[in-house]
This record gives sequence, C-alpha cells and structure tokens, in this order.
Amino acid sequence: MRVAVVGTGYVGLVTAVGLAELGHTVTCIDIDERKVAALNRGEPPIFERGLEPLLQRHLGSRLRATTDLAAAVAGSELTFICVGTPSRTDGSIDVSFVQAAAEQIGAALASTAGFHAVIVKSTVVPGTSDEVVRPACERTSGKRAGVDFGIGVNPEFLTEGQAVEDFMRPDRIVIGGDDRTLAALRELYAGFEGVPIVPTNAPTAEMIKYASNAMLATAISFSNEIANLGSAIGGIDAAEVMRGVHLSRYLTTPLSDGTTVTAPLSSFYEAGCGYGGSCLPKDVAALAARGRQVGTPLTLLEAVAGVNDRQPARLVDLLRRELGPLPGRRITVLGLAFKPDTDDVRSSPSFPVLALLRESGAEVTVHDPVVGPEAVDGLGEVTYAADLADAVKRADAVVIVTRWDDYRRLPELIGQLDPPPLVVDGRRMLERTSVPSYTGIGL
Ligand code: NAD
Repeated sequence: MRVAVVGTGYVGLVTAVGLAELGHTVTCIDIDERKVAALNRGEPPIFERGLEPLLQRHLGSRLRATTDLAAAVAGSELTFICVGTPSRTDGSIDVSFVQAAAEQIGAALASTAGFHAVIVKSTVVPGTSDEVVRPACERTSGKRAGVDFGIGVNPEFLTEGQAVEDFMRPDRIVIGGDDRTLAALRELYAGFEGVPIVPTNAPTAEMIKYASNAMLATAISFSNEIANLGSAIGGIDAAEVMRGVHLSRYLTTPLSDGTTVTAPLSSFYEAGCGYGGSCLPKDVAALAARGRQVGTPLTLLEAVAGVNDRQPARLVDLLRRELGPLPGRRITVLGLAFKPDTDDVRSSPSFPVLALLRESGAEVTVHDPVVGPEAVDGLGEVTYAADLADAVKRADAVVIVTRWDDYRRLPELIGQLDPPPLVVDGRRMLERTSVPSYTGIGL
C-alpha cells in the first residue's frame, strides 16, 4: 500500500521503516527540515537499535522523507498521524499538533478521489479521534468521515530501546474505526500473520492504549510503595520480597514438563526510583485528567502518580542517611536516559535526582553511556563525565538511576578505589556484597 506517516519521531520513524520492510511504499513527513534532510541522508535523528540499517535499506526505493504533507497525502491511500501529544500543566494532553496535522491532511484530501484512511497512532485520550480529528478533517476537506474518507485509531505499543523489534514482532494489533478503515488496516498488516488483531471502535482502541500503560505504572508504584514501607519498618529487603512474590503461580507458571515460565510483567514488580520516559508519566496523568474532566476522578491512578513523583527523593534520603549532610560531598549520578538502550531523557527520574542533589549543596557529576553532555546544559553546576571510570574515581557516593548494562562493571571499577565510594543502587541491579559499601531502594 502507499502510506504517508506524519511526524518522524520515535513512533513515526519506526512505523515508517517497519512498513517499508513489510513491503509498503512509505513517505515520511515532518515539519522539522533538519530531520527530513537527515533522514534523506540515511541518518536516523534518534538512537534505536536496528533503525539505521532498515532506513538505509529502503531509502530511495520504498521510503523517502519530505516536508510536503499535501503531496505525500495525496499520493497515498492511508495516512498515519504520529505527532507528539505533550502534557499540559494540569496533566491533560495538548492535542494541538494532532489537530493541526488533521487539518492539513483534510486540506490535502479536499482535491483527491477515492477512499483514504486517516489513522491516529499518536496516543490520544479516549474520545479524541471522534471529537478532534474527525471534525478537523471534515472541516478542511469539505468531505464526510465514514463516507468519503475514514478515521481510525491504531495505538502504538513499542518500547523505546527495542522499538524496531517491537514493531516487526508485535504482540497485538489494536485497530479502531469504521468498517472500511478497519479493512484498510487489516490489509496493511496482512504481513503479520498469526498476530492477534483487536478490531473495535475508535474510543475503545484509544482506551486500550491508556489502560495498558496505566496497569504497568500501577505495578511499578505498588512495588515502590511496598519497598518504602519495608525501609521504614526496617530489616526487610524489597528485592527478596519481590522474589517471593514473583514465585506465585500467577507470575511464574509451572509447565507440564517441570520447567517454569516467568511473566515479563514481573519486571514491573521491582522496586526502583520510579518510572519515566515519554509515555507512562504522561499517559497516567492524561487519563487521570480525562477522569476529572468527565466527573469520574481516578483515585488509584492519582495515587500511582503521587508515589512516582516522590520516588526520586528516596535516593537522596538514602544518601543523607548514609553520608550525613551533603554540602561539599562528591556524588556521581549514573544514567540520564529514562531506561537502558535508549537516548530518550524525557521525564527521566535522573533530573529530579540531579536537581535535589544540587539544591543540597553536593558536587554533582553525571555519566551516561549514550546520552551526551547537552542533556545537562542549563542545569548549572553539574559535571558530565564521558567515561565511567573517570565518573566514579573521586566520588564519595555513586547513585545508579538507569539500569544500563555497563554499570555491571562497577564492582570491578570500585574495587580498585581507595577509599571505595558508597553505591546507592536505585535499580537494585548489583549484588549487595559485590561492592564494599552498598545500599539500595527497599533495603
Ligand atoms: P516525537 O516528539 O519524538 O515526534 C513527533 C514528531 O512530529 C516531531 O518530529 C515533530 O517535528 C513532528 N510534527 C509535529 N507536528 C507536525 C506536523 N503538523 N506535520 C509533520 N510533522 C509534525 O514524538 P514520539 O515520541 O514519536 O510520540 C508521538 C506520539 O506517539 C505521542 O502521542 C506519544 O505519546 C505516542 N507514543 C510514543 C511512544 C514512545 O515510546 N515514544 C510509544 C507509543 C506511543
């Protein structure tokens, strides 16, 4: 099929190269001319494993990038909206980029013949495609949705860091919309044989995305709350608590051949310094805001967000408990990305940790194996260290915020230092006895 993808961020670009790999002819559109130029040189503007080879394989044949939305839409059968939906201060999402894209797509459809499917892939709160996208497209096209063109929803479940793999091997495909739009989406994804498809209406598809992320965020805050209570009571190790919880047959299922299989959900039931990234915090806040808007406050999700907001401060509390007053203390924060294998720093718990440390008067150094020094521009007195050994060598304490595999080298690096720094493990990724001085969340 001929497909236009509006917005070439994490979601749009991965969708575009993935669809090209499936055999479709794809035009990426972005308002950012530098991104478009980089893409046309075969350079992905983001770091994602496997993205660059796919981009370079299809560029110039089944894939190209442009800023000309009207021509790209007019030359396609199906257009994805993959633009950002940032948070507003009250937690609700700003759908103005989605609305602007829908208006431009509608204007392009005004002079086209034949059925065209407009698909919302951006994460939008239930009701948005009916209440915002449909009227915007109808107004500027002068045509009727459901008759002349279709509006559909196809939420994206990719995980940054493994986005290409997630796209190419989806666990489910959720599609919402009218019958013709659903048929177009089934044809588009026909190459994913055997993958369960959930066909439904647009608001239900929108809700599936939010319910999925809200469930994961709830698991994380639940685990953090149990860990915090364990710390307050004393003598309880949250990592061991969770190991015991995970052995429940609901999470670790015994198979008939005597082996067991552990549900990947278990990884969300681990104590840590909180969830971050561009999705979980934003999606939880947006669903809670939607609840307030329709007079059904989501008390559980409001609490999930509250627990998460307070979690980074727990690391600084641990430092104070072990080191005493922090002014003048040399503290190294390890990790800026919100999770390993990505360069995305959006809503990373590292930033509140850095801010609290700076306020405390500590001398702060930060390291990340992938994220560059520009991420800490404007943060004031924070030193960026490109090398892990340099980052830890003069530290009084080292605080692990991101579970980068690289940090498994810490016991070896720290073993050579005299005196060795305290390790505060915000991810409980190291063995307690692997370094001379260790504490962690939920100990
Ligand atoms: P992003 O900010 O990385 O990319 C959005 C892109 O859209 C930018 O390049 C921007 O220049 C472009 N853009 C904005 N308005 C445009 C317009 N009118 N025409 C053309 N281009 C335009 O965003 P993202 O992380 O890819 O997220 C996009 C959506 O997908 C959001 O709703 C997000 O919540 C959702 N989502 C993100 C992820 C993720 O892991 N990043 C996963 C699932 C869903």
